[in-house]
Amino acid sequence: MYDVIIVGAGIAGLTAALYSARQNLKTLVISADLGGQLLLASEIQNYPGFIKVKGFELIKKVEEQARLYGAEFIFDRVTGLEEVNGKFKVKTTMGEYEALALILAFGKTPREMGIPGEKELKGRGVSYCAICDAPLFKNCSVALVGWGEAGLEAALILKDIVKKLYWIFPGAKPVRDQQMLRFVLDSGKVELMPFSEAVEVKGEKKVEYLVVKNKKTGDVRELKVDGIFVEMGYEAKTDFVKGFVELSEKGEVKINKLGRTSRKGVFAAGDVTDMPYKQAVISAGQGAIAALSAYNYVMELKGKKVEMQADWKHLKISEEEEKKRLFHSSKVNL
Ligand SMILES: Cc1cc2nc3c(=O)[nH]c(=O)nc-3n(C[C@H](O)[C@H](O)[C@H](O)COP(=O)(O)OP(=O)(O)OC[C@H]3O[C@@H](n4cnc5c(N)ncnc54)[C@H](O)[C@@H]3O)c2cc1C
Repeated sequence: MYDVIIVGAGIAGLTAALYSARQNLKTLVISADLGGQLLLASEIQNYPGFIKVKGFELIKKVEEQARLYGAEFIFDRVTGLEEVNGKFKVKTTMGEYEALALILAFGKTPREMGIPGEKELKGRGVSYCAICDAPLFKNCSVALVGWGEAGLEAALILKDIVKKLYWIFPGAKPVRDQQMLRFVLDSGKVELMPFSEAVEVKGEKKVEYLVVKNKKTGDVRELKVDGIFVEMGYEAKTDFVKGFVELSEKGEVKINKLGRTSRKGVFAAGDVTDMPYKQAVISAGQGAIAALSAYNYVMELKGKKVEMQADWKHLKISEEEEKKRLFHSSKVNL
């Protein structure tokens, strides 16, 4: 039985783990990956303390810090949450874990097209990250479904790598910035497909065709492509917590200023919450708030009357102890 289980190892979950473990709570982080969205951020320039830092570098530092204080990690997907007699059961694809308190920090994931063939060919030609996967499609034909800033960023990356790029978007123009659009089109490799929507992904073992419909004319085209990049922004995938905690109209987990959700003992932090500003430093701050609130909750459950207001009062560990713990944590494989 854990004191606290944290769902998600993005910057919010990792910071919550650091704070929770530092209070000596038995802390488990369960996450589908290590790092979340920051893995996609090639360079962050607005995280305090760093002029610039790679997303993965920042994440590794916070992970190491959390392990140093004893946080444990399991890499698996959470599929369901349940409350039984005031304790919480966390179900994953491979197991079941119990805790006195939960912190939901499972962030946002790329929005999907929701069309036939997409799920089946995910990772086999269908990608949600041009920064990560574009190099795999050198000299290939690919389609880009996306618009706005995310779409433009993907187009800028792809135009230099692929042989042919079909750019599918629902309006007359994919982006407002006409100068940047011209820059993309100057490559001579990009075919704009306005007023269009993707309707089906076809392929046996990998992507072979994307079926696209023109919403104005009704014309349907089968594009022969090797890859499809979906860049339609991010959404909180909160289906598995529907009915367990209250959600906003946007499907985000509602919290108060102490990081409490509608269910006692369940806290939340980061991009998955209804906090409007989706930024790394804000997610980290919310992770700290949720962990301190979880600590107070667990102590109350255990009949110990302590109201933790700040973490800096915690005993500092010696340099020698730090070296010992770092050595131990570096031996833990992911
Ligand atoms: C390309 C890009 C660049 C960015 N650049 C910046 C920037 O420069 N500065 C800035 O401040 N912000 C930036 N952001 C925003 C910032 O990355 C996010 O606000 C922040 O990372 C959110 O952190 P989070 O921990 O709340 O969620 P996430 O980072 O989304 O992490 C959620 C974690 O939960 C896991 N998870 C999801 N569902 C489940 C499940 N069912 N079971 C188990 N685990 C699950 C995921 O695998 C992930 O590890 C950027 C975002 C992107 C996409």
